[in-house]
Parts: sequence; structure tokens; C-alpha cells
Amino acid sequence: MHQLTLAEIARGLADKKFSSEELTKVLLARIAQLDPQLNSFISLTEDLALTQAKAADARRANGESGALLGAPIAHKDLFCTQGIRTSCGSKMLDNFKAPYDATVVAKLAAAGAVTLGKTNMDEFAMGSANESSYYGAVKNPWNLEHVPGGSSGGSAAAVAARLLPAATGTDTGGSIRQPAALTNLTGLKPTYGRVSRWGMIAYASSLDQGGPMARTAEDCAILLQGMAGFDPNDSTSIDEPVPDYSASLNGSLQGLRIGVPKEYFSAGLDPRIAELIHNSVKELQKLGAVIKEISLPNMQHAIPAYYVIAPAEASSNLSRFDGVRFGYRCEDPKNLEDLYKRSRGEGFGAEVQRRIMVGAYALSAGYYDAYYLKAQKIRRLIKNDFMAAFNEVDIILGPTTPNPAWKLGAKNSDPVAAYLEDVYTITANLAGLPGLSMPAGFVDGLPVGVQLLAPYFQEGRLLNVAHQYQLNTDWHTRTPQGF
Ligand code: GLN
Repeated sequence: MHQLTLAEIARGLADKKFSSEELTKVLLARIAQLDPQLNSFISLTEDLALTQAKAADARRANGESGALLGAPIAHKDLFCTQGIRTSCGSKMLDNFKAPYDATVVAKLAAAGAVTLGKTNMDEFAMGSANESSYYGAVKNPWNLEHVPGGSSGGSAAAVAARLLPAATGTDTGGSIRQPAALTNLTGLKPTYGRVSRWGMIAYASSLDQGGPMARTAEDCAILLQGMAGFDPNDSTSIDEPVPDYSASLNGSLQGLRIGVPKEYFSAGLDPRIAELIHNSVKELQKLGAVIKEISLPNMQHAIPAYYVIAPAEASSNLSRFDGVRFGYRCEDPKNLEDLYKRSRGEGFGAEVQRRIMVGAYALSAGYYDAYYLKAQKIRRLIKNDFMAAFNEVDIILGPTTPNPAWKLGAKNSDPVAAYLEDVYTITANLAGLPGLSMPAGFVDGLPVGVQLLAPYFQEGRLLNVAHQYQLNTDWHTRTPQGF
């Protein structure tokens, strides 16, 4: 049962092959048995899950239907869940029970999804390896000595290990696509504004976007359908109709123009990954796509610009965690200053403190123009590159990451080495574009992802291309040994 995808679960529930309650019990038992190896959950919500599963079964018995009605999922632990710990992977929020549900959580619950728990993540979503979590590192089910990627590493490892069929993630600079690539999943970062950020604990507000992580594009379509839509509570939510994503999966790729940026194949890319990307291009050509070389000339500036803008926004967003209003408070503060300093010093981990310092520096009066403003100008140039490229092509294709999953601890002493892994993903966040990563093969037994980018609100096109690719390849069906 644990091998079933969301689409298969929906059919099984509709055909009364099993109930949501039965399925939920099977998966909770599997999590109890296997998750100690992975550490992919921060909290389990067994009681809520069983209540939701029974309610979904009752709704089906009353004649209701729906692809998510009774479907087990989990939420990255930065989506607020009413009455349930929402830790953001941090000691700072270890004792925080959210007073309300995030819009995404509420929408999925209303559609009948069953929440099994809250998944592990890099502290405040800062990281690419899920090693900065207060709750310990997450292991990659493909090789337990390797990282699963981050920051949505818990969601990725859990879905890849078949502990559940799908989970939510968030992507500020790649945190859905990169862990999806490193664990052989399909993950989609929607257009900025497509999915409500209300109740999602903010990292960098102009970049953050929630999205689905699953094993197939078909399942990402189902989960995205439940997440997307206008929300008056989020001032950057966009009032655009939500198309039927599942209906978009079967379009023909005949004549689809795919752009492959020449800058993607420069020195930093593992040549074995480059070969797998070329293979996926050939596969799509067989399906009728036309390939065109394009250029994204400002891509080289993306990492420095992102690592100014994201920390700048983070330093502002995280100022609310002061030992007074939320979360951790130090013992016996001597005075107000001591309370602030020690609560923040003890509550935040090293990477979060580093980002707050970098961000505060970049925003300080003397350096604002030189760093923050400059980075914003680069951001516009990167967006312009994409706009020019999308005049010529329908989709942009390339690797999701320059390397496969690295060993736990390998990049701990050198944060910049980890930042460089984001080279292919962060441009989509800077421009606000939708992007998807899907399985494209293996290097040394570790999964490799191919990334597709599309114009604003063309999530359906990304899912269509990925689904057609998955009908003709079987990388996404491979299961890690031992799971
Ligand atoms: N690795 C990037 C960072 O650390 C992206 C993280 C994310 O998308 N949340 O900022």
C-alpha cells in the first residue's frame, strides 16, 4: 500500500479497495518503523490523522469525491498548524504551537487531505542539506550517509522512502526542487503569488513560495490544485484563476520549444550529470520537442545577489523572535538587553545567526546602496534575461543541481560551498518564475534531477512536460533499497 501514488490512492478510495483510515494506519506504522533511520519528521500527528481519515471516509460514504479526499500528506514544519507545534526547525520555536492554520494547511484539510505530521527542515529554511535543523540532520534514503538536500529535506526523504505519497515544501532559493532532485522526486515551485504565504513562517518574503513534492508530476498536479489560489490574507497573492492542472497533463509536446542555456554547462557541473541532462533532452526530442540553445548572460551574478537579498529580508523577518513575543526565552535575564541577546543567541543556530548578520550589514546605512540596492538591480537583469529567453522558447531546461547529494558534514565548514549548489535554482526565485525538478537518472547510485522553468503561471506546462517524460521513462519509479 505504501507504494501507491496520490492518483492511485484516489482511485483505490473511490473503488472502495481500502479506506483512508486503513491506509493512514499502514503509513503511521511504517513511519514508526522506518523513520528512526531518516529523521524526516519533527512531529507526528497520529490523532489528528485518524480523525481526518475517518471524516474523509464518512464524506466519501456520503457520496463526496475528490482527488485529495482521504489522501495522506505531511507539512513542512514552517506551515502553521493550529494547536500543533510549528518549529521551523529551530530551538527558537520548539515550544510554539500555532494559533491558526496556514492557508495552505486549511485548504488541503478542507479538500480532505490527512495530515500525518510535520516534516524536518533546515532551521528557518536556511540551507541546502537539512543539516541545520535543531532536531538533527535528515538522511537521504538512497544512501544514509548522504544529505537529502534542503531545506525541505524532511518532506523529500519521507516521500522518497515511501513513508507517504506527497508532502508540502517551500522554495526560497531551491528548497523544493533541490531536495526533490537529490531524492528522486518531482517537486514544483509555483509562480510567486500562486500559493498563499499566509501562515508560512517567513524566511525571505519576496522569494518564498510553497509547493508540492511527490514522486510523479501527476501527483504534483493533484497537490498543487489543493494549494493554489488567491488569498486576501496574503498581499502578494495573485488573483488569477487556477486552471485544472490534472487536465493539462496530457497535452502533446509536438513542436514545444525547449531552450537550453549555454551557461548551464560550465565548469561547476559534474560531467556525469551533464550527460544525463543531454539524455533527457533527447527523450523530449523523441516526443516532438524542438531544442534551441539560449543564453542567460547574468546568471553568474545570481548567487551573490541572492545571498544579499535573502539574508537582508531574513534579518528583518526574524527580528520578531526576540524572547518576548514568540518562542524561546533565556533563563534569568539580567535586563532587557541581556534578554534580547541571550534569547536570540541561544535560540538561533549558527547558520541563522550568520544570515542575520550578513543581512543586517547589507541593509545598514553605509552599505545599503553598495549591496542591497546593487543586488536588486541584478535581480531585474536576471528577470530580463528570462523574459528575453521566453520570447524564443516555451520551456527552459537544465540540471537542478551541479552535483549529486553530498556526504553528511562534507560542506559544514564551508558555507559558501553549499551556497554554490544553488546556482541553477535561485534564478527562478529571483525572477518569481515557476520551476520543476524531475528524476533524470543516477550517478553512483544517487539521484539526479532535471529542472524545467516556464513563464509566469505556466505550472500546467511544466507538469505537462514532466508527465509526458514520465510516461516514457522510469527513473521516477525507482525505489531506494531498504524502503
Ligand atoms: N539553499 C538556499 C538557502 O539556503 C535556499 C533555501 C530555500 O529555498 N529555503 O537560502
